[in-house]
Amino acid sequence: MSDVTVMGLGKMGSALAEVLLRRERQITVWNRTGMKAEPLVDRGAVLASSAAEAVRASPLVIVCVSHYGAARQFLETKEVALALAGRVLLQLSTGTPREAREMETWARAQGAEYLDGAIAAWPSQMGGDETLVYVSGAEAPFRRHEALLKGIAGGLTYLGEAPANAAVLFAAVLSYLAGHWLGICHGALICEAEGFSVTSFGTAIAHLSPILGADARHMSALIESGSFQDPESTLATAGGDVGRLVEQAEDAGIGSEFPKFAAALFKRAIDAGYGPEEHAALIKVLRTPAKA
Ligand code: NAP
Repeated sequence: MSDVTVMGLGKMGSALAEVLLRRERQITVWNRTGMKAEPLVDRGAVLASSAAEAVRASPLVIVCVSHYGAARQFLETKEVALALAGRVLLQLSTGTPREAREMETWARAQGAEYLDGAIAAWPSQMGGDETLVYVSGAEAPFRRHEALLKGIAGGLTYLGEAPANAAVLFAAVLSYLAGHWLGICHGALICEAEGFSVTSFGTAIAHLSPILGADARHMSALIESGSFQDPESTLATAGGDVGRLVEQAEDAGIGSEFPKFAAALFKRAIDAGYGPEEHAALIKVLRTPAKA
């Protein structure tokens, strides 16, 4: 038998398989489009002729395809379901918490142990000492395969037995990233319109990153404690700053969708009377969405 099977050889699945080969693991691979396995086979991977054969080949089966629906298409066949009994299935495709819970229920019904993971890294970062992969689910199979998985991601983080924990944390991180991506693109638009170097802006954000990390800890602690009464920066002050972004966009004649969206949320919070509180109190209006 191989040490591990990798199912799905897109950009991320191939990167996982390459790292495992570098770590001198015996691997079996499978992909819907078999041709993508060629570079891995040249380096010693075994290409399974079917999804069921891939599952039978190793005690640990890692799935990394576009989404859970794609995974279900090849996992939920009679042959594969039978092959899964006694295996550990680690789902590394990105999915929602509901999908993680449903897949755990299904995998356990086939007699498999289930782990659910989320990769917070680019393919080129796989194998790095600090590369983050979150995993949740049954602890015993996680510990059994921990050393192998650490070879894929040095920052491997176990989040407990609840199978959806990895998907929950990843969704929250993705929410942060969505704001980050929008912020970078709108910030670049400001720089372009005002004749300032976009790369200098990128460097400034990089210099700010330790402060952003500290702010993430600060805001999350306040939200968890529900204590917004001793602000260093009030919601009214932050809302005023965001409002000025709308003004700048209109002055410069650039798109204002992002600042208008953000400013409307701050305005709703100020109108609700949260202006004197710490700016993390914005969560109070997010908890009660505006009526459509
Ligand atoms: P990708 O390069 O687009 O590859 C998609 C993979 O899914 C291919 O192996 C593809 O098979 C397979 N697939 C899609 N639909 C299928 C179906 N119906 N049946 C069987 N196989 C199917 O995507 P990727 O970048 O490797 O991403 C894979 C997962 O990793 C995603 O969930 C993604 O969110 C996650 N991830 C990716 C990154 C990243 O930077 N790339 C970062 C973090 C997490 P074919 O080759 O046959 O089309």
